[in-house]
Amino acid sequence: MVLLSTFLSVLTLNSAQAKSDNFSTQQLTDVEQIKQQALTSDLAWDLVESLTTEVGPRMPGTPGDKAGVAWAVAKFNAMGFDKVWTEPATFPKWIRYSESAAVISPSPQKLHITALGNSISTPKEGIQAEVIEFQTLDELESAPENAAKGKIVFINYQMNRDRDGNGYGPAVQARSRGAVVAAQKGAVGYVMRSVSTAHHRFAHTGGSHYKEGVTKIVSSAISNADADQLHRLVALGEPVTININVQAQSMGEGTSYNVIGEFTGSEFSQEHVLIGGHLDSWDLGTGALDDGAGVAITMAAAKLAHSKGKTKRSIRVVLFAAEEFGLWGAKAYVKANEKNLKHIVAAAESDFGADKIWAIESNVDASALPVVRDIAKAMASLNVEHIGKNTARGGPDLIPFRPFNIPAFRLAQDGTDYFNYHHTADDTLDKIDPEKLRQNVATYAVFAYMAANAKTRILGK
Ligand SMILES: [Zn+2]
Repeated sequence: MVLLSTFLSVLTLNSAQAKSDNFSTQQLTDVEQIKQQALTSDLAWDLVESLTTEVGPRMPGTPGDKAGVAWAVAKFNAMGFDKVWTEPATFPKWIRYSESAAVISPSPQKLHITALGNSISTPKEGIQAEVIEFQTLDELESAPENAAKGKIVFINYQMNRDRDGNGYGPAVQARSRGAVVAAQKGAVGYVMRSVSTAHHRFAHTGGSHYKEGVTKIVSSAISNADADQLHRLVALGEPVTININVQAQSMGEGTSYNVIGEFTGSEFSQEHVLIGGHLDSWDLGTGALDDGAGVAITMAAAKLAHSKGKTKRSIRVVLFAAEEFGLWGAKAYVKANEKNLKHIVAAAESDFGADKIWAIESNVDASALPVVRDIAKAMASLNVEHIGKNTARGGPDLIPFRPFNIPAFRLAQDGTDYFNYHHTADDTLDKIDPEKLRQNVATYAVFAYMAANAKTRILGK
Protein backbone atom coordinates (compact mmCIF):
# COMPACT_ATOMS: atom_id res chain seq x y z
CA MET A 1 0.00 0.00 0.00
CA VAL A 2 2.76 2.39 0.91
CA LEU A 3 4.52 1.67 -2.34
CA LEU A 4 1.37 2.11 -4.32
CA SER A 5 0.50 5.45 -2.78
CA THR A 6 4.06 6.68 -3.25
CA PHE A 7 3.92 5.58 -6.85
CA LEU A 8 0.62 7.41 -7.32
CA SER A 9 1.80 10.62 -5.77
CA VAL A 10 4.98 10.60 -7.84
CA LEU A 11 2.84 10.08 -10.89
CA THR A 12 0.68 13.08 -10.01
CA LEU A 13 3.75 15.13 -9.26
CA ASN A 14 5.66 14.34 -12.44
CA SER A 15 2.92 15.77 -14.57
CA ALA A 16 2.94 18.95 -12.53
CA GLN A 17 6.17 20.00 -10.94
CA ALA A 18 9.81 19.09 -10.53
CA LYS A 19 11.62 18.71 -7.21
CA SER A 20 12.30 21.56 -4.85
CA ASP A 21 14.65 22.26 -1.95
CA ASN A 22 11.90 24.11 -0.13
CA PHE A 23 9.03 21.64 -0.36
CA SER A 24 8.71 17.88 0.01
CA THR A 25 7.38 15.71 -2.76
CA GLN A 26 4.22 15.17 -0.75
CA GLN A 27 3.74 18.91 -0.31
CA LEU A 28 4.09 19.53 -4.02
CA THR A 29 1.50 16.85 -4.65
CA ASP A 30 -0.79 18.50 -2.12
CA VAL A 31 -0.40 21.81 -3.92
CA GLU A 32 -1.55 20.26 -7.19
CA GLN A 33 -4.54 18.67 -5.53
CA ILE A 34 -5.51 21.88 -3.70
CA LYS A 35 -5.29 23.74 -6.98
CA GLN A 36 -7.58 21.25 -8.76
CA GLN A 37 -10.00 21.29 -5.84
CA ALA A 38 -10.14 25.09 -5.92
CA LEU A 39 -10.82 25.12 -9.67
CA THR A 40 -13.99 23.11 -9.14
CA SER A 41 -15.07 24.67 -5.83
CA ASP A 42 -18.09 26.97 -5.47
CA LEU A 43 -17.11 28.00 -1.95
CA ALA A 44 -16.03 31.57 -2.80
CA TRP A 45 -19.07 32.11 -4.98
CA ASP A 46 -21.37 30.90 -2.20
CA LEU A 47 -19.67 33.28 0.23
CA VAL A 48 -19.86 36.38 -1.95
CA GLU A 49 -23.42 35.55 -2.97
CA SER A 50 -24.38 35.22 0.68
CA LEU A 51 -22.61 38.43 1.71
CA THR A 52 -24.03 40.59 -1.08
CA THR A 53 -27.54 39.11 -0.84
CA GLU A 54 -28.12 38.49 2.85
CA VAL A 55 -26.16 41.54 4.06
CA GLY A 56 -25.96 43.87 1.04
CA PRO A 57 -24.16 47.25 1.23
CA ARG A 58 -21.76 47.63 4.16
CA MET A 59 -20.82 51.27 4.54
CA PRO A 60 -18.82 51.79 7.75
CA GLY A 61 -21.01 52.59 10.72
CA THR A 62 -24.30 51.56 9.07
CA PRO A 63 -26.54 48.64 10.12
CA GLY A 64 -25.25 46.83 7.00
CA ASP A 65 -21.68 47.12 8.27
CA LYS A 66 -22.72 45.69 11.62
CA ALA A 67 -24.52 42.83 9.85
CA GLY A 68 -21.38 42.23 7.77
CA VAL A 69 -19.29 41.78 10.91
CA ALA A 70 -21.80 39.30 12.35
CA TRP A 71 -21.89 37.49 8.98
CA ALA A 72 -18.10 37.13 8.88
CA VAL A 73 -17.86 35.81 12.45
CA ALA A 74 -20.61 33.26 11.73
CA LYS A 75 -19.03 32.14 8.43
CA PHE A 76 -15.53 31.75 9.89
CA ASN A 77 -17.01 29.59 12.65
CA ALA A 78 -19.12 27.56 10.26
CA MET A 79 -16.08 26.96 8.05
CA GLY A 80 -14.18 25.47 10.96
CA PHE A 81 -11.49 28.09 11.49
CA ASP A 82 -9.58 27.34 14.72
CA LYS A 83 -9.73 30.88 16.07
CA VAL A 84 -12.20 33.62 15.23
CA TRP A 85 -12.13 37.06 16.80
CA THR A 86 -12.83 40.75 16.23
CA GLU A 87 -10.79 43.86 16.96
CA PRO A 88 -12.34 47.35 17.10
CA ALA A 89 -11.51 50.20 14.72
CA THR A 90 -12.81 53.75 14.91
CA PHE A 91 -13.37 56.16 12.03
CA PRO A 92 -15.19 59.41 11.22
CA LYS A 93 -18.73 58.32 10.45
CA TRP A 94 -20.64 59.80 7.51
CA ILE A 95 -23.97 58.97 5.93
CA ARG A 96 -25.73 59.87 2.72
CA TYR A 97 -29.44 60.72 2.57
CA SER A 98 -30.04 61.95 -0.98
CA GLU A 99 -28.42 63.55 -3.98
CA SER A 100 -29.59 65.09 -7.24
CA ALA A 101 -28.42 67.60 -9.80
CA ALA A 102 -29.69 69.29 -12.93
CA VAL A 103 -28.71 71.74 -15.61
CA ILE A 104 -30.93 74.78 -15.10
CA SER A 105 -29.85 76.71 -18.18
CA PRO A 106 -29.34 76.86 -21.12
CA SER A 107 -31.04 73.46 -21.63
CA PRO A 108 -32.71 72.03 -18.51
CA GLN A 109 -31.95 68.35 -17.87
CA LYS A 110 -31.06 65.99 -15.06
CA LEU A 111 -27.49 65.04 -14.22
CA HIS A 112 -26.54 61.68 -12.68
CA ILE A 113 -24.58 62.64 -9.61
CA THR A 114 -23.32 61.17 -6.36
CA ALA A 115 -21.94 62.83 -3.24
CA LEU A 116 -18.34 62.00 -2.46
CA GLY A 117 -17.72 60.51 0.96
CA ASN A 118 -17.48 63.09 3.73
CA SER A 119 -19.29 65.77 1.71
CA ILE A 120 -21.32 68.39 3.54
CA SER A 121 -24.97 68.96 2.68
CA THR A 122 -26.20 71.78 0.51
CA PRO A 123 -29.15 73.89 1.72
CA LYS A 124 -32.45 72.00 1.27
CA GLU A 125 -33.11 73.64 -2.08
CA GLY A 126 -29.55 72.87 -3.27
CA ILE A 127 -26.98 75.32 -4.56
CA GLN A 128 -27.35 76.96 -7.93
CA ALA A 129 -24.46 78.63 -9.75
CA GLU A 130 -22.58 78.94 -13.01
CA VAL A 131 -20.13 76.18 -13.89
CA ILE A 132 -16.45 76.84 -14.46
CA GLU A 133 -14.62 73.93 -16.08
CA PHE A 134 -11.03 72.77 -15.60
CA GLN A 135 -9.41 69.75 -17.24
CA THR A 136 -7.19 68.80 -14.32
CA LEU A 137 -6.65 69.52 -10.65
CA ASP A 138 -3.29 71.10 -11.60
CA GLU A 139 -5.04 73.51 -13.92
CA LEU A 140 -7.39 74.51 -11.10
CA GLU A 141 -4.48 74.88 -8.68
CA SER A 142 -2.62 77.23 -11.00
CA ALA A 143 -5.69 79.36 -11.72
CA PRO A 144 -5.64 82.91 -10.29
CA GLU A 145 -7.04 83.67 -6.84
CA ASN A 146 -10.83 84.00 -6.95
CA ALA A 147 -10.91 82.45 -10.45
CA ALA A 148 -13.96 80.44 -9.41
CA LYS A 149 -15.61 83.08 -7.20
CA GLY A 150 -19.31 82.28 -6.71
CA LYS A 151 -19.16 79.40 -9.20
CA ILE A 152 -19.33 75.62 -9.18
CA VAL A 153 -15.98 74.11 -10.18
CA PHE A 154 -16.15 71.17 -12.59
CA ILE A 155 -12.99 69.09 -13.14
CA ASN A 156 -13.32 67.02 -16.29
CA TYR A 157 -10.28 64.71 -15.95
CA GLN A 158 -10.73 61.32 -17.62
CA MET A 159 -8.81 58.44 -16.01
CA ASN A 160 -7.10 55.99 -18.36
CA ARG A 161 -7.90 52.31 -18.58
CA ASP A 162 -5.15 49.79 -17.90
CA ARG A 163 -4.79 46.22 -16.69
CA ASP A 164 -2.86 47.32 -13.61
CA GLY A 165 -5.12 50.26 -12.77
CA ASN A 166 -2.36 52.86 -13.02
CA GLY A 167 -4.90 55.53 -14.05
CA TYR A 168 -6.56 55.47 -10.64
CA GLY A 169 -3.89 57.18 -8.55
CA PRO A 170 -3.64 60.37 -10.63
CA ALA A 171 -7.44 60.60 -11.00
CA VAL A 172 -8.06 60.19 -7.28
CA GLN A 173 -6.24 63.43 -6.48
CA ALA A 174 -9.19 65.43 -7.82
CA ARG A 175 -11.59 63.32 -5.75
CA SER A 176 -9.61 63.58 -2.56
CA ARG A 177 -8.70 67.31 -2.61
CA GLY A 178 -10.77 68.87 -5.41
CA ALA A 179 -13.33 70.51 -3.11
CA VAL A 180 -10.54 72.08 -1.02
CA VAL A 181 -8.73 73.60 -3.99
CA ALA A 182 -12.03 74.75 -5.53
CA ALA A 183 -13.01 76.48 -2.28
CA GLN A 184 -9.60 78.16 -2.14
CA LYS A 185 -10.37 79.65 -5.56
CA GLY A 186 -13.70 80.99 -4.27
CA ALA A 187 -16.05 78.25 -5.53
CA VAL A 188 -19.39 77.55 -3.83
CA GLY A 189 -19.57 73.92 -4.99
CA TYR A 190 -17.48 71.17 -6.54
CA VAL A 191 -18.35 68.48 -9.07
CA MET A 192 -15.97 66.21 -10.93
CA ARG A 193 -16.08 63.66 -13.72
CA SER A 194 -16.25 60.28 -11.97
CA VAL A 195 -13.05 58.34 -11.44
CA SER A 196 -14.25 55.85 -14.02
CA THR A 197 -13.52 54.07 -17.27
CA ALA A 198 -17.20 53.37 -17.96
CA HIS A 199 -19.62 54.45 -20.65
CA HIS A 200 -22.67 53.90 -18.49
CA ARG A 201 -24.51 56.61 -16.58
CA PHE A 202 -23.59 55.66 -13.03
CA ALA A 203 -21.68 58.15 -10.91
CA HIS A 204 -18.76 56.83 -8.84
CA THR A 205 -18.43 57.79 -5.21
CA GLY A 206 -15.26 57.57 -3.10
CA GLY A 207 -13.45 59.25 -0.24
CA SER A 208 -12.86 63.01 -0.16
CA HIS A 209 -11.41 65.35 2.42
CA TYR A 210 -11.67 68.87 3.74
CA LYS A 211 -8.87 70.98 5.14
CA GLU A 212 -8.96 72.90 8.35
CA GLY A 213 -9.28 76.62 7.70
CA VAL A 214 -10.72 76.16 4.19
CA THR A 215 -14.47 76.67 3.67
CA LYS A 216 -16.28 73.36 3.18
CA ILE A 217 -18.22 73.17 -0.08
CA VAL A 218 -20.29 70.31 -1.46
CA SER A 219 -18.12 67.60 -3.03
CA SER A 220 -19.64 65.44 -5.79
CA ALA A 221 -19.10 63.44 -8.98
CA ILE A 222 -21.18 62.96 -12.13
CA SER A 223 -21.13 59.99 -14.51
CA ASN A 224 -18.84 60.03 -17.53
CA ALA A 225 -21.79 60.52 -19.88
CA ASP A 226 -22.97 63.54 -17.86
CA ALA A 227 -19.44 64.95 -17.74
CA ASP A 228 -19.31 64.77 -21.54
CA GLN A 229 -22.65 66.56 -21.74
CA LEU A 230 -21.63 69.27 -19.29
CA HIS A 231 -18.38 69.76 -21.19
CA ARG A 232 -20.27 70.20 -24.48
CA LEU A 233 -22.64 72.69 -22.89
CA VAL A 234 -19.77 74.75 -21.48
CA ALA A 235 -18.03 74.64 -24.87
CA LEU A 236 -21.03 76.39 -26.45
CA GLY A 237 -19.71 79.53 -24.79
CA GLU A 238 -22.83 80.66 -22.94
CA PRO A 239 -23.01 80.54 -19.12
CA VAL A 240 -24.13 77.11 -17.87
CA THR A 241 -26.00 77.08 -14.59
CA ILE A 242 -26.53 73.89 -12.60
CA ASN A 243 -28.16 72.97 -9.31
CA ILE A 244 -26.60 70.43 -6.94
CA ASN A 245 -28.58 69.07 -4.02
CA VAL A 246 -26.77 66.79 -1.57
CA GLN A 247 -28.13 65.78 1.82
CA ALA A 248 -25.55 63.97 3.92
CA GLN A 249 -24.21 64.10 7.45
CA SER A 250 -21.02 63.63 9.41
CA MET A 251 -21.87 61.78 12.62
CA GLY A 252 -18.73 61.94 14.74
CA GLU A 253 -16.73 58.87 15.62
CA GLY A 254 -18.02 55.46 14.55
CA THR A 255 -16.79 52.01 15.55
CA SER A 256 -16.57 48.85 13.48
CA TYR A 257 -14.52 45.65 13.72
CA ASN A 258 -11.81 43.83 11.85
CA VAL A 259 -12.91 40.20 11.71
CA ILE A 260 -10.13 37.65 11.85
CA GLY A 261 -10.17 33.90 11.30
CA GLU A 262 -7.13 31.67 11.70
CA PHE A 263 -6.16 28.08 11.02
CA THR A 264 -3.45 27.41 13.58
CA GLY A 265 -0.15 26.02 12.35
CA SER A 266 1.20 22.67 13.60
CA GLU A 267 4.85 23.70 14.15
CA PHE A 268 5.27 27.46 14.24
CA SER A 269 1.85 28.67 15.25
CA GLN A 270 2.91 32.28 15.89
CA GLU A 271 4.26 32.61 12.37
CA HIS A 272 1.47 33.20 9.93
CA VAL A 273 0.45 33.93 6.38
CA LEU A 274 -1.85 36.96 6.33
CA ILE A 275 -4.39 37.22 3.52
CA GLY A 276 -7.66 39.12 3.36
CA GLY A 277 -9.81 41.86 1.93
CA HIS A 278 -11.99 44.59 3.36
CA LEU A 279 -15.41 43.80 4.71
CA ASP A 280 -16.91 47.27 4.32
CA SER A 281 -18.15 48.72 1.05
CA TRP A 282 -19.71 51.90 -0.29
CA ASP A 283 -23.46 52.22 0.05
CA LEU A 284 -24.50 52.57 -3.59
CA GLY A 285 -24.04 48.98 -4.77
CA THR A 286 -23.71 45.74 -2.82
CA GLY A 287 -19.91 45.78 -2.71
CA ALA A 288 -19.54 42.62 -4.81
CA LEU A 289 -16.34 43.51 -6.68
CA ASP A 290 -15.22 45.93 -3.98
CA ASP A 291 -14.59 43.98 -1.92
CA GLY A 292 -16.97 41.08 -1.38
CA ALA A 293 -14.87 39.18 -3.91
CA GLY A 294 -11.66 39.69 -1.93
CA VAL A 295 -13.37 38.58 1.26
CA ALA A 296 -14.71 35.42 -0.40
CA ILE A 297 -11.52 34.59 -2.32
CA THR A 298 -9.30 34.71 0.75
CA MET A 299 -11.72 32.94 3.12
CA ALA A 300 -12.17 30.12 0.61
CA ALA A 301 -8.45 29.94 -0.18
CA ALA A 302 -7.53 29.56 3.50
CA LYS A 303 -10.07 26.76 3.87
CA LEU A 304 -8.70 24.92 0.83
CA ALA A 305 -5.07 25.46 1.85
CA HIS A 306 -5.97 23.79 5.13
CA SER A 307 -7.75 20.85 3.48
CA LYS A 308 -4.67 18.59 3.62
CA GLY A 309 -4.42 18.97 7.37
CA LYS A 310 -2.64 21.55 9.46
CA THR A 311 -0.02 23.66 7.73
CA LYS A 312 3.32 24.24 9.51
CA ARG A 313 2.58 27.92 10.07
CA SER A 314 -0.81 29.50 10.70
CA ILE A 315 -2.99 30.93 7.97
CA ARG A 316 -4.78 34.07 9.07
CA VAL A 317 -7.56 35.80 7.14
CA VAL A 318 -8.09 39.44 8.11
CA LEU A 319 -11.27 41.15 6.91
CA PHE A 320 -10.48 44.81 7.42
CA ALA A 321 -13.03 47.37 8.60
CA ALA A 322 -13.69 50.86 7.21
CA GLU A 323 -11.21 50.70 4.33
CA GLU A 324 -13.29 52.97 2.13
CA PHE A 325 -13.23 55.79 4.67
CA GLY A 326 -9.42 55.74 4.88
CA LEU A 327 -7.90 52.35 5.88
CA TRP A 328 -9.17 52.72 9.45
CA GLY A 329 -9.35 48.97 10.11
CA ALA A 330 -5.85 48.37 8.77
CA LYS A 331 -4.43 51.22 10.88
CA ALA A 332 -6.13 49.79 13.99
CA TYR A 333 -4.85 46.29 13.17
CA VAL A 334 -1.25 47.47 12.86
CA LYS A 335 -1.52 49.39 16.13
CA ALA A 336 -3.09 46.49 18.04
CA ASN A 337 -0.74 43.85 16.60
CA GLU A 338 2.49 45.82 16.28
CA LYS A 339 4.53 43.34 18.33
CA ASN A 340 3.36 40.40 16.22
CA LEU A 341 3.88 41.86 12.75
CA LYS A 342 7.34 40.26 12.70
CA HIS A 343 5.60 36.86 12.65
CA ILE A 344 4.00 37.54 9.26
CA VAL A 345 5.71 35.26 6.71
CA ALA A 346 3.71 36.47 3.70
CA ALA A 347 0.92 38.99 3.26
CA ALA A 348 -1.41 39.73 0.36
CA GLU A 349 -4.71 41.57 0.10
CA SER A 350 -7.30 40.89 -2.59
CA ASP A 351 -8.96 44.25 -3.31
CA PHE A 352 -9.08 44.76 -7.05
CA GLY A 353 -12.26 42.99 -8.16
CA ALA A 354 -12.70 39.43 -9.33
CA ASP A 355 -11.02 39.18 -12.71
CA LYS A 356 -8.22 36.65 -13.22
CA ILE A 357 -4.87 36.92 -11.47
CA TRP A 358 -2.21 37.32 -14.16
CA ALA A 359 0.95 37.81 -12.08
CA ILE A 360 2.60 37.35 -8.73
CA GLU A 361 5.16 39.79 -7.41
CA SER A 362 7.00 39.67 -4.09
CA ASN A 363 8.70 42.15 -1.80
CA VAL A 364 10.89 39.92 0.37
CA ASP A 365 14.43 39.39 1.62
CA ALA A 366 16.76 37.94 -1.04
CA SER A 367 17.04 34.71 1.00
CA ALA A 368 13.36 34.01 0.26
CA LEU A 369 13.53 34.37 -3.51
CA PRO A 370 13.97 30.61 -4.17
CA VAL A 371 10.75 29.95 -2.24
CA VAL A 372 9.00 32.70 -4.20
CA ARG A 373 10.17 31.10 -7.46
CA ASP A 374 8.72 27.76 -6.34
CA ILE A 375 5.42 29.41 -5.49
CA ALA A 376 5.35 31.17 -8.85
CA LYS A 377 6.15 27.89 -10.60
CA ALA A 378 3.18 26.22 -8.93
CA MET A 379 0.97 29.06 -10.23
CA ALA A 380 2.20 28.85 -13.82
CA SER A 381 -0.52 26.38 -14.82
CA LEU A 382 -3.07 28.98 -13.67
CA ASN A 383 -1.59 31.41 -16.24
CA VAL A 384 0.06 33.47 -13.52
CA GLU A 385 3.36 35.10 -14.52
CA HIS A 386 6.19 35.84 -12.12
CA ILE A 387 7.18 39.50 -12.01
CA GLY A 388 10.73 39.28 -10.70
CA LYS A 389 11.29 42.89 -9.63
CA ASN A 390 10.63 42.06 -5.96
CA THR A 391 9.08 45.48 -5.31
CA ALA A 392 5.43 44.52 -4.67
CA ARG A 393 3.43 46.90 -2.53
CA GLY A 394 0.48 44.68 -1.58
CA GLY A 395 -3.14 45.88 -1.40
CA PRO A 396 -4.37 49.17 0.11
CA ASP A 397 -4.88 47.72 3.60
CA LEU A 398 -1.23 46.68 3.64
CA ILE A 399 -0.10 50.33 3.34
CA PRO A 400 -0.05 50.84 7.14
CA PHE A 401 2.12 47.67 7.42
CA ARG A 402 4.88 49.07 5.19
CA PRO A 403 7.05 50.67 7.88
CA PHE A 404 7.42 47.18 9.41
CA ASN A 405 8.95 45.61 6.28
CA ILE A 406 6.67 42.61 6.24
CA PRO A 407 7.09 40.14 3.34
CA ALA A 408 4.42 41.58 1.02
CA PHE A 409 3.00 40.07 -2.15
CA ARG A 410 0.85 41.27 -5.00
CA LEU A 411 -1.31 38.66 -6.67
CA ALA A 412 -2.17 40.98 -9.54
CA GLN A 413 -5.70 40.78 -10.87
CA ASP A 414 -6.65 42.01 -14.32
CA GLY A 415 -8.15 45.43 -13.58
CA THR A 416 -9.03 46.40 -17.16
CA ASP A 417 -12.77 46.58 -16.39
CA TYR A 418 -12.62 47.17 -12.64
CA PHE A 419 -13.13 50.93 -12.82
CA ASN A 420 -16.30 50.51 -14.87
CA TYR A 421 -18.08 49.42 -11.69
CA HIS A 422 -15.92 50.51 -8.75
CA HIS A 423 -17.86 52.55 -6.15
CA THR A 424 -21.09 52.64 -8.19
CA ALA A 425 -24.62 51.33 -7.77
CA ASP A 426 -23.62 48.86 -10.49
CA ASP A 427 -21.11 46.98 -8.28
CA THR A 428 -23.32 43.93 -7.92
CA LEU A 429 -22.91 40.15 -7.92
CA ASP A 430 -23.66 39.65 -11.63
CA LYS A 431 -20.32 41.38 -12.42
CA ILE A 432 -18.43 38.41 -10.95
CA ASP A 433 -17.56 35.53 -13.26
CA PRO A 434 -17.60 32.29 -11.21
CA GLU A 435 -14.83 30.72 -13.27
CA LYS A 436 -12.49 33.68 -12.83
CA LEU A 437 -13.34 33.72 -9.13
CA ARG A 438 -12.23 30.06 -8.86
CA GLN A 439 -8.90 30.90 -10.55
CA ASN A 440 -8.37 33.56 -7.87
CA VAL A 441 -9.14 31.07 -5.11
CA ALA A 442 -6.75 28.53 -6.60
CA THR A 443 -3.96 31.11 -6.80
CA TYR A 444 -4.48 32.32 -3.23
CA ALA A 445 -4.76 28.74 -1.94
CA VAL A 446 -1.42 27.81 -3.57
CA PHE A 447 0.10 30.97 -2.11
CA ALA A 448 -1.20 30.38 1.43
CA TYR A 449 -0.34 26.68 1.50
CA MET A 450 3.21 27.13 0.19
CA ALA A 451 4.10 30.21 2.24
CA ALA A 452 2.81 28.42 5.36
CA ASN A 453 4.74 25.20 4.61
CA ALA A 454 8.05 26.35 3.11
CA LYS A 455 11.08 24.70 4.76
CA THR A 456 12.50 28.05 5.83
CA ARG A 457 10.26 30.98 6.60
CA ILE A 458 10.00 33.91 4.20
CA LEU A 459 11.56 37.06 5.65
CA GLY A 460 10.84 40.69 4.80
CA LYS A 461 13.47 43.03 3.37
ZN1 LIG B 1 -11.72 48.11 -2.08
